[in-house]
Amino acid sequence: MRLDVGAMPSGAPSSLLERIAALRREIAEAARAAGRPPASVALLGVTKAQPCAAVVAAIEAGLGDVGENYVQEARVKYAALPPVHKHFIGHVQTNKARAIVETFDVVQSVDRLEAGRAIGRAQRALGKRVRTLVQLNVSPTERFGVAPADASALAARLREEGLEVDGVMAIGPLTADRSAVVDAFRRAAQAFREVGGTTLSLGMSDDWREAVACGSTMVRLGTAIFGARP
Ligand SMILES: *Cc1c(COP(=O)(O)O)cnc(C)c1O
Repeated sequence: MRLDVGAMPSGAPSSLLERIAALRREIAEAARAAGRPPASVALLGVTKAQPCAAVVAAIEAGLGDVGENYVQEARVKYAALPPVHKHFIGHVQTNKARAIVETFDVVQSVDRLEAGRAIGRAQRALGKRVRTLVQLNVSPTERFGVAPADASALAARLREEGLEVDGVMAIGPLTADRSAVVDAFRRAAQAFREVGGTTLSLGMSDDWREAVACGSTMVRLGTAIFGARP
């Protein structure tokens, strides 16, 4: 299926298939430039505010990972997708933990013990396990996330609660100052080494190049894939 999407300011390709292919090439090139294997960075498509048809088209174009911030939105949109890994990237409210575990395979945004405990309870009630990441706060413009210095202690407590903690996620600072972005991502990469696991989820449409240079293993792209959100 060919689905035309909004034009990108950079003159990116107009079909999802071409856009995803072009992004994959650029990401592989950025990894190589950082001395890393070209296939070491996964592409997660952030589908918030995008219609279901666009999500399905992106999966048919080869996208293997999708992410949403709001569980209500995802429950409807993700109900009947082709096989794909579903990531929760929004704030974990404890009263939504059950719906989150039901809907997603990976919870990237565990930023406090109470949230992790709620995920653990939901896992036991549903007989389903999810992978989790610890969400870090490396930005003065972000409300959520644990301080990088406290990340490994939180990860240890979450593991005691029975959670599979497989790395960290962070949102970069909203700033045009590229060195501030790199500095924040380096702190995230250091916390990732302390926490352990396989996934450093770092980088969005405006800062994924810096993220790959700093060791990101998963970039979360919305606008760069689907165009501006409606
Ligand atoms: C919206 C969002 C993204 C994607 O943002 P773009 O700038 O559209 O690529 C990535 N991660 C999180 C946590 C988000 O909320």
